[in-house]
Amino acid sequence: MISAVRFWSLGLALGLGGATALTPAESTAVKRLVAAYPAFLRGVDGNALVWRDGTRMPLTRSAATTYPARLDAPGLLDQLDAAYPACAPLTAPAYLSDPGRTRFEPLLRKMYGASEAAVRASLVTVDWFGQPLRVTRVNGVADSLRAVAAELATHPEWRALLTPSAGTFLWRTVAGTPRRSVHSFGAAIDLNTARAAYWQWSGSREGQRGIPWRNAFPAGLVHTFERHGWIWGGRWYHLDTMHFEYRPELTGGCHAAR
Ligand SMILES: [Zn+2]
Repeated sequence: MISAVRFWSLGLALGLGGATALTPAESTAVKRLVAAYPAFLRGVDGNALVWRDGTRMPLTRSAATTYPARLDAPGLLDQLDAAYPACAPLTAPAYLSDPGRTRFEPLLRKMYGASEAAVRASLVTVDWFGQPLRVTRVNGVADSLRAVAAELATHPEWRALLTPSAGTFLWRTVAGTPRRSVHSFGAAIDLNTARAAYWQWSGSREGQRGIPWRNAFPAGLVHTFERHGWIWGGRWYHLDTMHFEYRPELTGGCHAAR
């Protein structure tokens, strides 16, 4: 005869709806997330992320077995897996290393807006070296970008990389995917396309080996963004060197590294 306790344990082992405890690494990553978005997040309770409005968001993983499928439908814990090398030297990432490219969309929608109109309601203008850019003021994104611009202004030799910006807010999906771009939430900026490299421009396919890494952006420029909570698409195997997005939960260690 199987006891109730043993049956319950078996259910957990088989993943039959039971909640398993967070690992120490997961627990640390969730704490970083809560610390990065204090206006919205209150803490962790068991296996739930608790919002200040009382919402409980389950800390789950995607059931997908392949990386592309997981990218399309990640769990919240999948977003937090990335070990983002903030303020580290700029080097070619390892095969399929895309720290920060996995995003749990319900989290972003709840903070920045679940529709184009809702996101637009929080957009403000930031002066980007004479170019007006629309970004969200939610989570201090606009103030952060202004601080980045002020620091970068002391480096006129980088101006041709920074301008013209290829854009910030645009309600759109990532090309060729069902995933909503972080540009949709007004929390991303593309720098000068003419000086950038993007993995699809080499004709590569998702997950293909040997995608070439090329980069014209100096470490000092990238580190300036990272110190202010922005991650860089040049740190992805699927590289996008013009792209920065506001993800302070991943760059938290950068200040200490200065
Ligand atoms: Zn972009």
